[in-house]
Amino acid sequence: MALTEPDEVGALESGPTGPDPGARPVGPDAPDDEEGNAAAEAAATGDAAGRSPTLLPARMLNEFVYCPRLFFLEHVQAEFAHSEDTLAGRLVHRRVDREQGGLPPAEELEPGDSVAAPGVLLSSERLGLVARIDLLEGDGDEVRPVDYKKGAPGRDGPWEPDRVQLCAQGLILENNGYRCSSGVIYYATTRQRFVVPFDATLRQRVVEVAEEARKVAAQALPPPPLIDSPKCPRCSLVGICLPDEINLLRGAALTEVRRLVPARDDAGPVYVLEQGTTVGKRGQRLALRRPDGSEEAVRLLDTSHVCLFGNAQVSAQAVRALAEREIPIFHTARTLGCAPRATPSARSSRATPRRS
Ligand code: SF4
Repeated sequence: MALTEPDEVGALESGPTGPDPGARPVGPDAPDDEEGNAAAEAAATGDAAGRSPTLLPARMLNEFVYCPRLFFLEHVQAEFAHSEDTLAGRLVHRRVDREQGGLPPAEELEPGDSVAAPGVLLSSERLGLVARIDLLEGDGDEVRPVDYKKGAPGRDGPWEPDRVQLCAQGLILENNGYRCSSGVIYYATTRQRFVVPFDATLRQRVVEVAEEARKVAAQALPPPPLIDSPKCPRCSLVGICLPDEINLLRGAALTEVRRLVPARDDAGPVYVLEQGTTVGKRGQRLALRRPDGSEEAVRLLDTSHVCLFGNAQVSAQAVRALAEREIPIFHTARTLGCAPRATPSARSSRATPRRS
């Protein structure tokens, strides 16, 4: 049997090198092939946003099993945001996204034929599903879809969302006349390849998930966020979904509102370069007075830290105001070769400028 080895897909070498933490390592795995698959599926279904009233992308079944709200945000509201995972996933899929076609019609396959077709796009009106299969391999009239994931498998093997997505591809193949009783999931992080049999339970699960997903897609509002879920920190849409904030407003009992999105610091540094400048305090502002008497004011609110270069003075009032707000002061003395010296952290309550 002439099968294509995963390592022949050179792009996999670009995947991350360590297993991802969390309940499921890739956050939502599906966004890792977001652009390639969504664009192809959208082209197949004639919907620029990747949505179709009739055909549901198999990739979206993966999203739905992972989190129904994620499915709704992506499939219905066409939201998308890149994360480290989605960018790494794009690398994993770059070759299969580039190479497409080469799949002979099912009726032309004969015993002894080998198949290795990347980027196969197929749909089934009867199932109401469309899928872009990363690689189709096999021999004779038996084919197997191969799905590339950038992450790592779970303790017990492939994650359920990945198995559902793969089996959906298998069902689509069957509906197009191919024999398909199993598929393969290749995890680039661990370089593991799993054969997934399409048993009756998994097939039934695909049908049920597709049915549930269609019902949710028809709703006016997205499902509520998961509560305190370890999936959220790795979810690329966490900044759009705001799971803990929304749950708090909905009255859910939360132990804490996790900081899942880095805080944006609007404040910036104040550099004092001109020799002889004095930094004082006026109201809630720093007043920078130059030797020629001209002044400039900066709001304390907008100040992240103050950097003094050479001969510059800071008034006791300014030091106190900065220390109270935990704004550090850095002082670099030109006379000692510009050796940088930081004040003790303002958090230590002794934020006094120190000369070298
Ligand atoms: S942040 Fe959490 S609740 Fe929101 S879409 Fe992602 S996984 Fe679902």
